[in-house]
Amino acid sequence: MVDSFIRDVPDFPKAGILFKDITPLLQDPRGLAKSIDGLADLVDPDSYDLVCGIESRGFIFGTALASKLGKGFVPIRKPGKLPWKTESESYELEYGTDTIEIHVDATALGKRFLMVDDLLATGGTMGAALTLVRRIGAEPVACAFVIELGFLPGREKLGDVPAHSLIKY
Ligand code: AMP
Repeated sequence: MVDSFIRDVPDFPKAGILFKDITPLLQDPRGLAKSIDGLADLVDPDSYDLVCGIESRGFIFGTALASKLGKGFVPIRKPGKLPWKTESESYELEYGTDTIEIHVDATALGKRFLMVDDLLATGGTMGAALTLVRRIGAEPVACAFVIELGFLPGREKLGDVPAHSLIKY
């Protein structure tokens, strides 16, 4: 059901990429509710303290999930956005590198993190996020994605952290 709201946009943001557009899912009340309910069912909520989401689409799903379950939310952001003391981690892109950051005191209310993003592709982003949260003393319990591109080896970047997804292509 959730998959019927994902729009394929060819050649975005560049030629050869088939972009999975989640905006039709977000704007439909049933689609939005189903996706958050589905994420909540992927991992036992008693196994984690906080939901950690990656900018920016991980914020959309992660905060809604956290609020539904009565948990707090930790943002992982692009460089220079977080105002307090941060740790950062860089990772390889197809061309160049990218960096993500987290506040060093994000574990104040719990160390067991559920890691959330909209989509698992090469795994570079989530792999770096796992390294980052471990560096501040958190334990990534599991990863949850709305969409997984199963034809890419993204799971290999996640090591022994279990990964779950609502839709697998
Ligand atoms: P990766 O680091 O390769 O696993 O890429 C994951 C991040 O890139 C996610 O935050 C996605 O939002 C975005 N992304 C990668 N590939 C796609 C795609 N085909 N459609 C939509 N978003 C994508």
